[in-house]
Amino acid sequence: MTEITRTALVTGGSRGIGRAIALELAKAAGRVAIIYAGNHAAAEETVNELKALGAEAMAVQCDVADFDAVKAAVARVKDAFGPVNILVNNAGITRDMLTLRMTGDDFMKVLQVNLAGSFHTAQACYRDLMRGGWGRIVNITSVSGLMGNPGQANYASAKAGLIGLTKTLARELAGRGVTVNAVAPGFIDTEMTRDMPEETLKAALRAVPMGRMGKAEDIAGAVGFLCSDRADYITGCVLQIDGGMYM
Ligand code: NDP
Repeated sequence: MTEITRTALVTGGSRGIGRAIALELAKAAGRVAIIYAGNHAAAEETVNELKALGAEAMAVQCDVADFDAVKAAVARVKDAFGPVNILVNNAGITRDMLTLRMTGDDFMKVLQVNLAGSFHTAQACYRDLMRGGWGRIVNITSVSGLMGNPGQANYASAKAGLIGLTKTLARELAGRGVTVNAVAPGFIDTEMTRDMPEETLKAALRAVPMGRMGKAEDIAGAVGFLCSDRADYITGCVLQIDGGMYM
């Protein structure tokens, strides 16, 4: 199979890190589909940028927390572009609050999107990946999942769970030529972190030895590598991209 015939699916590809990943994968995969939650304008902009790079591109609106909706979305991608060869589970949300005041709903909502959402897409693509003889799954976790973080009981639990999912899928699919890895970003400059109160952000940056936030492209470059043939023998790993925050 030549790289140009591959189909990539990036969840949360309309903005931020997901958009940068989609654009990076467009260099290697001839077809890139993105899933987004509801921001049509951002999704359209990403699709236009992907097409400008010469890729075939499509966007599907879908809540990754909804298993049936995910199955339908993956079927739409398959109809248009053929089976998914590269899956990047990047869609994520935060609902930060100290544990004492966090509602059960906010705890579950973050788990449903960040963790169950990744299981949903992985299962929807699983058979085709297994049969394809070559494949890649990259799950975007977080340093929060490795270190814990005050106010993020929901998010850190989801991201830690995603590492367990990554390693399980890696073991299940290793004999099929499908690698499964996780990337753990630190503080990356996107809309997600732009919402942080300035004091919190300053305190967070004090914990980063490199003293600055990362860029979405820093994550995208690593995902591009893990999805390439050069990373054929890497599976079940968690690659931290965090300016030295967690070591
Ligand atoms: P953004 O908030 O900038 O973008 C989130 C993306 O996810 C959007 O494309 C959004 O779609 C999509 N999305 C959100 N909820 C759903 C849903 N239920 N179903 C489908 N799509 C959904 O996030 P970032 O780019 O900052 O983060 C991307 C990933 O990286 C996340 O998993 C995040 O946890 C992780 N991460 C980010 C860090 C950071 O510092 N920014 C640090 C560590 C990890 P729409 O545009 O339609 O709303």
